[in-house]
Amino acid sequence: MAVEVAGRERINLLGLERPALEAFVGSIGSKPFRARQLMQWMYGRGESRFEAMTDLAKDFRARLADCAQVRAPQIVRTQQSADGTRKWLLRADATQAIEMVYIPEESRGTLCISSQVGCALDCSFCSTAQQGFNRNLSTAEIVGQVWLAARELERDFVPPPGASPGQRPITNVVLMGMGEPLANLRNVVPALRIFTDDFGFDISRRRVTLSTSGLVPQIYRLADEVNVALAVSLHAPTDDLRSELVPINRKHPIKELLEACWHYLDEQNGRSVTFEYVMLEGVNDQPGQARELVRLLKGHPAKLNLIPFNPFPGTKYRRSGAAAIQRFRDELLAHGVLATIRRTRGDDIDAACGQLAGRVQNRATVRLGSKTIGLAVQT
Ligand code: SAH
Repeated sequence: MAVEVAGRERINLLGLERPALEAFVGSIGSKPFRARQLMQWMYGRGESRFEAMTDLAKDFRARLADCAQVRAPQIVRTQQSADGTRKWLLRADATQAIEMVYIPEESRGTLCISSQVGCALDCSFCSTAQQGFNRNLSTAEIVGQVWLAARELERDFVPPPGASPGQRPITNVVLMGMGEPLANLRNVVPALRIFTDDFGFDISRRRVTLSTSGLVPQIYRLADEVNVALAVSLHAPTDDLRSELVPINRKHPIKELLEACWHYLDEQNGRSVTFEYVMLEGVNDQPGQARELVRLLKGHPAKLNLIPFNPFPGTKYRRSGAAAIQRFRDELLAHGVLATIRRTRGDDIDAACGQLAGRVQNRATVRLGSKTIGLAVQT
């Protein structure tokens, strides 16, 4: 695989999965196996300065400094929730910003990252949808989020009481931030490989989760290319309702979507697919709808994750009451479908599901360089 160093722009090594990095290292006159050493510095130790990578030959380091860089998005703002959740607003380039969220728990630490600036899918209950679509993130920008968060978190990380020896702050990565990851498959796949590579972040495949609104052809492609956990935004038991909430359903209805999910598990030896289901009062939270879900999912390796709706300005939806959500879950459990209720985290800093970058049109603006852009900041 040839890697071109485009013009005078230094190549960002965070964008290269191992074979591409080996090719690059070879192309600048070193042995391809040096790529592994380089990865250990970059991902194992969070090092970005080539001169600090002391077990690499001096002239190799000089060549790297000449034509390569390790560059993550820059932090514009950090917010910390009362519950320990942290949200970063990141500058991707002069005009674009994205967000990522870290959710610490007793036995794990989950980083929720973005795959696009904005989103084109227009789900009616999601605030990211309201800002429209700006662009795909590059592999380096996707990997750079995890790289940056690991570095930031490791500075003051105190392992929780139940932590396993050597546990790092990020044990799980979920692509559940801004964007539809399967609409940016070309850049997402190499990033997923870097997350799970032993010389990359070395995160177990079961602890990397890609969430999709249901791009069926891309689910088949993903099954061929990588092995990670799959989450699917179901949100409704019937096509009529799902098409209203998740418009891509008009193109790829529930039956097709579920077939793709079971195929994915067969290909991957996966345990189960997690179906996300946002709880909207009076819309999709009735016991009869739980029973319709049972008909769809019973007997299949499926788990339902019920997400209390997180409201945002201008939305017509309301969150289902706690009692309705529990009743819905109990109905599912009683009929043999696994279901859990997602605990809402970080809502005091607008870091909960569907709230990322939701304040674009009418809210805070932040100056980045010479341009003023709308960003998802709570002021
Ligand atoms: N585009 C991908 C991943 C991003 S969203 C997808 O659709 O799966 C991660 C999850 O949060 C999805 O299940 C999404 O439907 C859900 N979500 C979006 N807006 C929400 C809101 N306002 N409240 C609760 N969950 C929401």
